[in-house]
Amino acid sequence: MEASGKQKRPAILIIGAPGAGKGTQGRIIGTIPRFFHCACGDVFRSLDTRTELGQRFVEYSSKGELVPDELTVELWEAQLDNWTETYLYKPDIDILVLDGIPRNVRQAEMLEAYLDVQQVFHLTCPNRTELARRMRKRALKENRIDDANESVIQNRIQTYEDETKPILDFYPRSIISEIDATQQPVKVLSDILRRVTDLPAYRQISAIKV
Ligand code: AMP
Repeated sequence: MEASGKQKRPAILIIGAPGAGKGTQGRIIGTIPRFFHCACGDVFRSLDTRTELGQRFVEYSSKGELVPDELTVELWEAQLDNWTETYLYKPDIDILVLDGIPRNVRQAEMLEAYLDVQQVFHLTCPNRTELARRMRKRALKENRIDDANESVIQNRIQTYEDETKPILDFYPRSIISEIDATQQPVKVLSDILRRVTDLPAYRQISAIKV
């Protein structure tokens, strides 16, 4: 994907600790016309684990650590190009819903060339016990080994605190919405959508007849 000469892609970001519900919300919003959900963790999980890249992912994720930034952004770009070329994602009429990327300030800087970040939704859940409970439940339902082990769970939450949360200082305060992630999912969704429908990119895109 060439950043220069191309329009930046309108995007909303969903930021939150593991277990806060980013994937649940992202998936639902991604089913609405004119939104395209991209979960970075899903992109990694779809890799063939026999490949070098797949092995690197397993190496880091099994410890609850982040995959190195260059590798992550390269893979993300390649996947986005792929979706664009196959017309699944249409950059001129779809708002990107990013979940799990950027995951630190360096990634946020690297993505600046590609994204027009319209809003950052911070799903807040200060209760670590609740986050861990949700992750253990997900481990069983979605077969996620990285969410099954207690020390990995704690490491994932700590990685979020240390590396991901500082992203919230990278973006202007005016585009950050704090959403209480301990509410019922439908209420979290309604809080997000209320804000989304006010965004300039949404108004522009929704006026286009397709
Ligand atoms: P997730 O499904 O978002 O919880 O991600 C699962 C794992 O994939 C993480 O613990 C990381 O090892 C890796 N991962 C996902 N997204 C990123 C990212 N943006 N940067 C680095 N590692 C990532």
